Amino acid sequence: MKPLYLTVTDKHIRYSYEDSDDKSTIDKVYNINSAKTLGENLDNFKSKIPSYFDVVVILNPIDVELRDTIVSCVNQPIDMGLTMENLLHIPTVGVHDVARLGLKQAASLEEEHAGWHLEYYGSYSGKRQYGQESMQTIGNGYFGLRGAYLEAKANDDNYPGTYVAGVFDQLTTNINNHDIVNEDLVNMPNAQYMSFSIDDGDVFKLAPDEITNVYRSLDMRTGVLTITMLVSLHNGKRIKVTTKKVADMKNYHNYSLQYTVQPLNFSGQMKIYSEIDGSVTNWNVERYRSFNGKHIIVDKTLVDGDRAILMAHTKNSKVNMSVGSKIQCPDIDDAVLSSNRFQERISQSLEFHVVEGRSYTVEKSVSMYTSLETDGDLEDAVYGHDYHKNFADAVSNSMRCWQKIWRNEDIEVVGDVTAQKLLRMNEFHATVSAQQHVNKDLDASIGARGLHGEAYRGHIFWDELFILPYYTMHFPNLAKYLLMYRYNRLGAAKKYAKDNGYKGAMYPWQSGMYGDEQSQLTHLNPITNQWDPDNSRKQRHVSLAIAYNIWNYYNMTNDDEFMKEYGLEMLLNIAKLWISMSEYDPETKRYTIANVMGPDEFHEGYPGADEGGLKNNAYTNIMTSWLFGRLEYLMQKEPDEVISENLKRADFNEDDLDDMESIRKNLKLEFNKDDILGQFEGYFKLKDIDFDYYRRQYGDISRMDRILKSEGDSPDEYQLAKQADSLMALYNLREDTFMDILKDMGYPIKDRTKFIKDNVNYYLQRTTHGSTLSRIVYSMLALKVNDYDLSWKLFYQALTSDYYDIQGGTTAEGIHLGVMGATVNVVTSDFAGVDFRGDEISVDPHFPDQWQTIKFNLTFKGIRYYFTVSKDSITVATDHDTQIVVKGEQVPLTGDEEKTISY
Ligand code: BGC
Repeated sequence: MKPLYLTVTDKHIRYSYEDSDDKSTIDKVYNINSAKTLGENLDNFKSKIPSYFDVVVILNPIDVELRDTIVSCVNQPIDMGLTMENLLHIPTVGVHDVARLGLKQAASLEEEHAGWHLEYYGSYSGKRQYGQESMQTIGNGYFGLRGAYLEAKANDDNYPGTYVAGVFDQLTTNINNHDIVNEDLVNMPNAQYMSFSIDDGDVFKLAPDEITNVYRSLDMRTGVLTITMLVSLHNGKRIKVTTKKVADMKNYHNYSLQYTVQPLNFSGQMKIYSEIDGSVTNWNVERYRSFNGKHIIVDKTLVDGDRAILMAHTKNSKVNMSVGSKIQCPDIDDAVLSSNRFQERISQSLEFHVVEGRSYTVEKSVSMYTSLETDGDLEDAVYGHDYHKNFADAVSNSMRCWQKIWRNEDIEVVGDVTAQKLLRMNEFHATVSAQQHVNKDLDASIGARGLHGEAYRGHIFWDELFILPYYTMHFPNLAKYLLMYRYNRLGAAKKYAKDNGYKGAMYPWQSGMYGDEQSQLTHLNPITNQWDPDNSRKQRHVSLAIAYNIWNYYNMTNDDEFMKEYGLEMLLNIAKLWISMSEYDPETKRYTIANVMGPDEFHEGYPGADEGGLKNNAYTNIMTSWLFGRLEYLMQKEPDEVISENLKRADFNEDDLDDMESIRKNLKLEFNKDDILGQFEGYFKLKDIDFDYYRRQYGDISRMDRILKSEGDSPDEYQLAKQADSLMALYNLREDTFMDILKDMGYPIKDRTKFIKDNVNYYLQRTTHGSTLSRIVYSMLALKVNDYDLSWKLFYQALTSDYYDIQGGTTAEGIHLGVMGATVNVVTSDFAGVDFRGDEISVDPHFPDQWQTIKFNLTFKGIRYYFTVSKDSITVATDHDTQIVVKGEQVPLTGDEEKTISY
């Protein structure tokens, strides 16, 4: 092994290692520059050391109990293990573990541990803490339970939110004599609350100065979140509190909590409290707090021994709910239970005698039912709920379920502990947000922020496009259930189209419970604190994303039944929208689609125009042409009766079929003299912008739109972009498909390599990555132009975007599920190069130098594929005979036989 040894003090890092050439020991000191942040110091430190180490050993840990790698650095305790792993992407171990296990085993155990755990050491506050709660959210597709401390009540530092998929409610707030209606994913009653008191003292309230140490560890392999806290109360009493939570991945109405206290320097009486609190409001997002957020109306509170039940409903959507809990402490003999019912809350406590040094455990199980997925009496449902025997039982159940899930969906990366951890984190949160056997019972899809927070009010966007491939690869039926959410709202989409003077189905940019448009008409600019007009609803391309998702699902599963019953009807209705939006200009002999916005939300309209909306957005037009092409293909392929029945249902006639063909070939695009594809008509007339000027003034210019608006200027005036727009179609489609579409549209590209290179460079220079979705798309585009360094850099920024909350506080309001899905997709589809968008799987890796192997499996057209891809070889096994295409060559595969192909 090649270890790097560190001794960390408040002022310096002493480091030693063996020279790779002459094997001599090198011993050096890095002096910490107090004028710089710790992060800057560590980056600097990294630049001074060689890159060949495979393990870091911390020689002077100070807190062996919590973790063998905690040191004092710049006068604060930090976990150098976490820090070094994030910095160098290699396992970091403490000297005690090395003495106990030997270096090799300690390193290998830590590598395993690091790849499966998402951990935080120390206390945080404000948005940082909120963000970490989002990241440590557990759940099962039915609910998401934020990773807050159990003792937390909603305040500026803690937000113990709970969300159930599909439970929305609309409330009206009168602001400046305007009634503003908002539909929120409802924050459910808080049943995760537990805390303690000692003797006659107050209930512990997470006062920061009383928490001496805390370690939070989410074990993604088992789904258990453990928080270990050392508390030193103002009265001198010290206590260790260990709390655990786990969601039931199978019986999805359930989660379980465990609360263990160990008095460290006293004996006496202790009380452990438990609550179900229905007085909660939607309060996660600061800028929404002036809006009405009280959705829960409590109908009844009940107590029966160790069981408590709260019955409630949402104010306007009238979703009924019951939340029940059961508390027990089988190992404590003398515990006395007391219960208090309040109008909106139930509080219970267990009081018992404690002896210094011993541990006492109280367990709580919670069940939740709503009228959306449960028929019959909800009180009976919660009463009859079959709780786990104890917490250990809940954990072994969770472990079994996760084992099965991971067997299916894990992506194993060798050579980078940080990437491994964060990829698993993405997969973990994808699973928290939706699960196949849960979503079959729900009428819900995945919100842009998962079930993890309240940003965008839990709404569902085009972001489905970025995560659905992942679900389809592993759990095809899950993708189908999510598509059914859209099918069930086809009526609303048709109404939306009609209300806007169009035909067919126009899906809303932001969708909630009913599928009507939930985008607001104004948007808060945090720089000016003003509400600016918001035209984002004009992103009609969301309907194309739905069509794309339907097609991808169909292509990957061959689910003809779905296509016949639901898919085709949606596709035809969406096509009808675009036909009705396309206008023919006899002069240019081209069709125009106007009054739209592309994915680049900076451009809402033409400079100075009264109305928002743009003409001939390239992404929209290319994807429309793609959709029409797919439909023409389906018209040939599907049986006549399926076609005629669906044409009838979608009110799609011969004229529409003719129009479709002619529009497909004649939608207008604009190119400049250098063959740059214009983002929309008139794009090249816009001014160029001097980013450096703004960078000097503002530092972070990712939200250039807000900066310009705050200066009385407008992003509409300039050639700049929030995220990939014109080139987004190259993310969705295979390069050949993209080029064929351009050709069919009458814009053949002569030199495609040059075209892609020039366009990627052109738009990259003008893109500020104001959306987390931006970098990952460009990471994939950079591979197309063989810029591996850029691709890697953008990939890593995307991979760490929620972990480091790179937007400075948005993770506090929920994860960004779109970028999580897209990141995983880039690993399998672009780095490993396994592309499933055609009739057969085609493999063309762009393997990162930094990794050794990528291993994963997927289901494609009913066949299971097991891939291990490395820098120079592809190993694949399948459960049936089939064939794949590797770098353009057909490779036959025999079922159950592994084949390795060098490339
Ligand atoms: C992005 C959109 C995305 C939305 C929700 C915005 O910032 O620009 O593309 O759909 O966030 O994630």
